[in-house]
Amino acid sequence: MLLENRVALVTGAGSGIGRAVALAYAREGCHVLLLGRRVGFLEESYDRILEEGGRASIVPLDLETDLGRVPELVATIHRRHGRLDILVNNAAQLGDMVPLESFRPPIWEMVLRVNLTAPYFLTRELLPLLRQSPSASVINVISGVAMHGRAYWGAYAASKAALLNLTQTWSAELCESSVRINAVNPGGTATAMRARAFPGEDPAELPTPESIVPVFLYLASDHSRLRRGENLEAREWCHWRP
Ligand code: NDP
Repeated sequence: MLLENRVALVTGAGSGIGRAVALAYAREGCHVLLLGRRVGFLEESYDRILEEGGRASIVPLDLETDLGRVPELVATIHRRHGRLDILVNNAAQLGDMVPLESFRPPIWEMVLRVNLTAPYFLTRELLPLLRQSPSASVINVISGVAMHGRAYWGAYAASKAALLNLTQTWSAELCESSVRINAVNPGGTATAMRARAFPGEDPAELPTPESIVPVFLYLASDHSRLRRGENLEAREWCHWRP
């Protein structure tokens, strides 16, 4: 299997793209740590993985309010697995879709915290465990608005642009290490977040989360060993197979 005996942490693993990635990693032999807020959703992902004969653990954690519990999480992963091979910073919040001058400050703070501070802090705290892996991969999930701001996408667009920049900076700083960091732009995908952003759209006309999983498999696997600090468009990788 592509990811035999690897250990992966996927944030936002209870729904949408995060769930599809977590299930795909488990099918390829990974032990997947499923992180999110809503335990019922994480349990659904967990049950599906176990039904298919895979391995997983549930990590209930709110990336807005519980970052203080991350050191405890790091200690648990260290005790149980001794290392981390794959980190997918996928969880995100859309926030308000209003003009910048109307943006509610607490929502601004929340979006920046979940979409930018949390991936930074998680990666920083998990780096010692990632360095224990012979070939570790961090994947930051960005968005098309990371490259070009768009009216009413305020905090979300700013956070994703900053996450892409963070990916590049960190990648440069880790150029001599066994840890590589890249970004993925999923492109419009049929999920709850997309439906909130585009309520009039027919989800049946969009790619499913499952269909964009290949780029996440590629970046997690040794096939992407030489890729660093790049931004991959998920739709260009839909047909990738090892
Ligand atoms: P979903 O809304 O289905 O998934 C978002 C996930 O983030 C949920 O599982 C949610 O879990 C988790 N999450 C949100 N807030 C927190 C928090 N405070 N703490 C922990 N987990 C949290 O949307 P998608 O699957 O579409 O989004 C996945 C990624 O893809 C995001 O980064 C998004 O920006 C990106 N993206 C999506 C696109 C699309 O068209 N779908 C396009 C471009 C980018 P819970 O609510 O249980 O906490």
